[in-house]
Amino acid sequence: MSSILTDSFGRTIDYLRISVTDRCNFRCIYCMPPEGIPTLPREEILTFEEIARVARIFLKLGGRRLRITGGEPLLRKNVVELVEQLAGLPKLKDLALTTNGFFLSKLAQPLKDAGLQRINISLDSLDHTQFSKLTKCSKFEDVWEGIEQALTADLKVKINVVIMKGINEKEILRFGGLAKNSSIEVRFIEFMPLCGTGWRPEWVFPIKEVRDLLKENFTLAPIPRGQEVAESYRIENGKGNVGFIASLTEPFCDSCSRLRLTADGKLRSCLFSNAEVELKPWLRGAEPVDEMIERIIIQAVRSKPAGHGMTYPITTKNPEELPKIRFVGG
Ligand code: SAM
Ligand code: SF4
Repeated sequence: MSSILTDSFGRTIDYLRISVTDRCNFRCIYCMPPEGIPTLPREEILTFEEIARVARIFLKLGGRRLRITGGEPLLRKNVVELVEQLAGLPKLKDLALTTNGFFLSKLAQPLKDAGLQRINISLDSLDHTQFSKLTKCSKFEDVWEGIEQALTADLKVKINVVIMKGINEKEILRFGGLAKNSSIEVRFIEFMPLCGTGWRPEWVFPIKEVRDLLKENFTLAPIPRGQEVAESYRIENGKGNVGFIASLTEPFCDSCSRLRLTADGKLRSCLFSNAEVELKPWLRGAEPVDEMIERIIIQAVRSKPAGHGMTYPITTKNPEELPKIRFVGG
C-alpha cells in the first residue's frame, strides 16, 4: 500500500530503529575494537523528548513500528521512561528493543509494564568461556538471568546469534536445541563487514550452511515472512522458532522497511550507506517546527538506496575499503 513514506523503489518505510546511546559495556569482537570507540559528547545525544517527537511525527506520517537500540540501550539512564513515552504514541503497532541483556534481569518487568512488547537479546555463545572471549565481558549468568526474566515478564523473546566461521559455528545445533525446547526464537545473523572494527572476511559463514545444518537435524516448517527481515521456521515438535538473517549472501534490501535515527539525531535510510540527514538543528531551533521534521523524514525515505550494493564474497582485509558503517549508535 502506497503511503507518504513510500520510497522511490516502491518500498513502504514503516519501521524506525532508534539508537538511544553510542555507549556500550561490551566489546563484541564483530562490533567494537577492544579499546572501544570515541564517544559522543552527552549534549549531542537526543533527549527523550526529542526522540519521542521524531517518533510521533514518523508515526503520524505512516510509520507503525519502533525499535530501541544502541550502543547498549539499557545503559541509558531512565530508559524505561522513554519506553513509556513511546508506548503511548498514537498509531504505534509494535514497540521492541535490542539489548546485550546485561542489565535486563532487573529491567525486564519494568520494561514490560511500561509498554514494551518484544525484546531481542544478543547472545553469541552458550558457553561461558567463549561468551567472555566474544564480548570481553565475563557475566554470562547475568545475561542468562535477563533472558529468563524477560520470559517471566511475558515479553516476546528472540535471541540474536552472529555466526562466525571458526568462532562459534560449532554451537549452531545447541542454539537449535534451545529454540526447540523454549518459546524463544533464535535468529542466526550473518557477520557483516563493519569498517574500523574487527572485519575478517574469513569469519563470514553463509547463512545457507547454517540453515542446511539445522534442516538436517530438525524438521523445520516455514513461517510466512510478511515484513520480517528474517526468514523464520517453526521447529516441529518443539516450542520455539529459528530465523535467518543473511544481509550479505541473501540480501533483503528489496523488502527493507527501515529508517534509522542515530543517537545524535541523524536519519539514515540504510545501515550500509553513509548518507545522513541532520534533524537536531530543527529539534533544537528557537521555534521547533514539526513540518520541517516531517519534510526531512520524507526526504530521508525518498533517498533510500535500492540496496547496499555489496556482493559476496568480500575479499578485502582492509577495513578502509569497506563502507563506513556506523552500527553502534547508528
Ligand atoms: N547492544 C545491543 C545488542 O548487542 O543487542 C544493541 C545494539 S547492537 C549494535 C544490535 C545488533 O547488531 C546485535 O544483535 C549485534 O549482534 C548486531 N551486530 C553488531 N555488529 C555486527 C556485525 N558486524 N555483523 C552482524 N551483526 C552485528
Ligand atoms: Fe555492544 Fe551490542 Fe556492539 Fe556488542 S553488539 S559491542 S553489546 S553494541
